[in-house]
Amino acid sequence: MGMIQRWDIFKGLGGFKGIGQRLVNLVYPPSCIACSAALADEDGLCPACWRQIPFITHPFCARYGTPLPVDHGGMMLSPLAIADPPVFGRARAVARYDGIARDLVHGLKYGDRVELARIMAQWMVREGSDLLADCTLLVPVPLHRFRLWRRRFNQAAALAEGIGRQTGIPVGYESLLRVKATRPQVGLTRSERSTNLEKAFKANPVDLTRIAGARIVLIDDVMTTAATGNATARTLLKAGAASVDLLVFALVAKAG
Ligand SMILES: [Zn+2]
Repeated sequence: MGMIQRWDIFKGLGGFKGIGQRLVNLVYPPSCIACSAALADEDGLCPACWRQIPFITHPFCARYGTPLPVDHGGMMLSPLAIADPPVFGRARAVARYDGIARDLVHGLKYGDRVELARIMAQWMVREGSDLLADCTLLVPVPLHRFRLWRRRFNQAAALAEGIGRQTGIPVGYESLLRVKATRPQVGLTRSERSTNLEKAFKANPVDLTRIAGARIVLIDDVMTTAATGNATARTLLKAGAASVDLLVFALVAKAG
């Protein structure tokens, strides 16, 4: 998809435009969410920042969502996806975790920038349309309670809320629980690491009927490695989910 089409889609996806929005604009003039430059109609990205987002476009790996160098057509798999397939079905990311995409993730995670979630969720709905078309339940990757308290809110839950609102797909905010702070991974073997991480998640007993047979899309802000996606997917599959895919805003290129 070309830059112009993406820009048109982005503009077309804007929130409600009515007298209420115009009143809001009198008080809070619309501005670029990355550089704060003034914008004409509503909050979003200015064209200069838009061009700097490292979008992941075709070709990408059908399992890990990572960019691939050459397009051979059809469904493509990275060497890693063939050698070491993930537990989740498909992962998809809007952008590489770099430049302005990284700034937006940091703004959402550490700043007080809740308005970013709505706009980032719009892009996730667009780029994750294949995954969301089959989805019956959105599940945000949970933070440990201690970290939730420190950061005041879970950025994955904020993105899931935005996606749920735009698509009408229900969100299981509490379907997946983080039951303990993850032990430091340093010095552990790969298999010890995955066991360590898997013990950190638990399907919520209260939500088991909801999870059973559900086609779940896990929502997170960043995929750094496939480890968290694999651990959470395994937990939900064991609890009876029919399928688990993973939709993130940004992906660290080495993740797959
Ligand atoms: Zn800008």
